[in-house]
Amino acid sequence: MDSGVGTATGASAGPVADVVAVDLGPGVRAGFTRRPGGVSRGPWAGLDLGLHVGDDPDHVLENRRLVERWAGMPVWYPRQVHGREVAVLDAPPEPGRALASGADGAECDAAVAVGRGHAVAVVVADCVPVLLADPAAGVVAAAHAGRPGLLAGVLESTVEAMVARGAVPASIRVALGPSAGPCCYEVPEQMRDDAAARVPETAATTRAGTPAIDLRAGCAAVLRRAGVGSVRTVGGCTIDDESFYSYRRAKVTGRCGGVVGIAP
Ligand SMILES: [Zn+2]
Repeated sequence: MDSGVGTATGASAGPVADVVAVDLGPGVRAGFTRRPGGVSRGPWAGLDLGLHVGDDPDHVLENRRLVERWAGMPVWYPRQVHGREVAVLDAPPEPGRALASGADGAECDAAVAVGRGHAVAVVVADCVPVLLADPAAGVVAAAHAGRPGLLAGVLESTVEAMVARGAVPASIRVALGPSAGPCCYEVPEQMRDDAAARVPETAATTRAGTPAIDLRAGCAAVLRRAGVGSVRTVGGCTIDDESFYSYRRAKVTGRCGGVVGIAP
């Protein structure tokens, strides 16, 4: 993996999106944003991509423009509700109709982009940003997998939506981005047990020896059961690493993102 820092065009020395790029195959532009850079201030300081977390919307939209510059194409963000609905974008947004770009679109926790020249993103603070791509089929997706979404089956519904547009599960490559690690993600014992009853691989123990949930182990397990060809994990624990926003660390904070699209 390489870092996408420093993608400002021309001589402009303004802020740039700090993105950890991941290789999901030929032509696929994919990465996870980090907190540094951006124009947000106060408790959201940095590259906050969350439109509904109390930050100045003008700052968030400017940060989203920086991510679009990094991606090299319009980026569409679903309005996330911790469910399992998936939006499918069959074509790039029409020029002049910015509905799909920058601002939040439909309520759902995953989005599929079909074809070249448009990207989809999810925003997170401790939940898992999941990027999926089947470059041969020309289908990519971004999913937001927190505990409720993972248990509700958001990743299975995302793979199903990709397959409905021609993707082949064994050809799908997945990157799980930085998120709350089992080291820190302490939960009541009953919650751990309830999660494990649905996805056994989520059961974990914190560094301190208390009940925990391992979100990324759970994501990897359900994706493998759905037949996905490769799953890799990028980055560490957002509660430990202050270069990412963390809701566990601060209730008022911003959101990092995962973005994926096929270059135009
Ligand atoms: Zn941790």
